[in-house]
Amino acid sequence: MNKEQKHFETQAIRIQADRTSYQEHSVPLYLTSGFVFEGAEEMRASFAEEKERNLYSRFSNPNTTEFVDKMCALEGAEAGYAFATGMAAVFSTFAALLNSGDHIVSSRSVFGSTHSLFTKYFPKWNIETSYFQVNDIEKVEDLIQPNTKILYAESPTNPGVDVLDLEALGIIAKKHNLLLVIDNCFATPYLQNPIAYGADLVIHSATKLIDGQGRVLGGVTVGKADLIREIYLFSRNTGPALSPFNAWVLSKSLETLAIRVDKHCDNATKLATYLESHPKVNWVKYPFLKSHPQYEVAKKQMRLGGNIVAFEVKGGVDAGRSFFDNIKMSSLSANLGDTRTIVTHPASTTHSKLAQEDKLAVGITDGMVRCSVGLEHIDDIIKDIEQALSLL
Ligand SMILES: *Cc1c(COP(=O)(O)O)cnc(C)c1O
Repeated sequence: MNKEQKHFETQAIRIQADRTSYQEHSVPLYLTSGFVFEGAEEMRASFAEEKERNLYSRFSNPNTTEFVDKMCALEGAEAGYAFATGMAAVFSTFAALLNSGDHIVSSRSVFGSTHSLFTKYFPKWNIETSYFQVNDIEKVEDLIQPNTKILYAESPTNPGVDVLDLEALGIIAKKHNLLLVIDNCFATPYLQNPIAYGADLVIHSATKLIDGQGRVLGGVTVGKADLIREIYLFSRNTGPALSPFNAWVLSKSLETLAIRVDKHCDNATKLATYLESHPKVNWVKYPFLKSHPQYEVAKKQMRLGGNIVAFEVKGGVDAGRSFFDNIKMSSLSANLGDTRTIVTHPASTTHSKLAQEDKLAVGITDGMVRCSVGLEHIDDIIKDIEQALSLL
């Protein structure tokens, strides 16, 4: 960080769109689909991009621009574009940058819908994907072909909470002239900045910890300006833009991201430590537990361990299902990164479409529970999990 640059918390609060003549302290919601022009010449120059200004909210809007500007500052990125959902960000990023015949090398542990893009939809456009295991980064180079264009990964992964060495991926991408694209959703820009390790683009589902309160969907891609330009031109025509209302909510949410994520991580560490010695739990995975297979890498690249704890209850599918039926306070839901603690059974929900061998390859067993640790009092969170386990 250079001396001129303000700290994370300060930028998340003090980067603001221009205020109106009312001089509001908090930036208002610009709920407008279009913007007006002074005359024919201004209209022509604006559409010809000779003049930088808002034209139409599919292209840009003061609220989406404020959200993107903050995300760029927090990730150390040159430029960005905001999307209606995280998946719109993932899809549009690939679709804007790849041509028919291009090839992707990806971690096997990616979000379920991203996996569907790779296996079901991209092959329609003759875009193939090869996969490496999260703990097998040495094999990445063997998968690279002359037509490989993108190296893709998430870290920590969903739902296995594996950690990939971003520095190692950055070195491989640079050596082979590939674009390194990282889905940084689980870490948020507060815990980890992939651009510092050589990522060209960083994607977020803002639906998760960035909103943090389970209210709105959103996504964003930030990174190198020339790549974002391609993504912007594609998106300006195809229309996956974030709504001004959601951008306004998300930008306000960023003001409290650091303080929320600190507390999420504190609660998650306490729950993970508690579960580690529980007799009805086979294993616990949390990046900042010494038992985590990539503990050293996590310590190197993350500020704290995140809010997701994965564990396996003893007794397979039946015990897994009973555990969820026993839960009293936590929510049974597919979302994550909410103030409310959420428990999910990946094998029967988010990742149910995967073949059994693919599930096992990414560490999803029948008794596995993914817990998105919320901001309730930690004693109440532990009490809920404890009573659900005690009934097994
Ligand atoms: C949720 C999620 C997405 C997709 O985001 P949506 O906002 O639900 O479209 C992508 N990647 C990861 C890692 C996610 O957790």
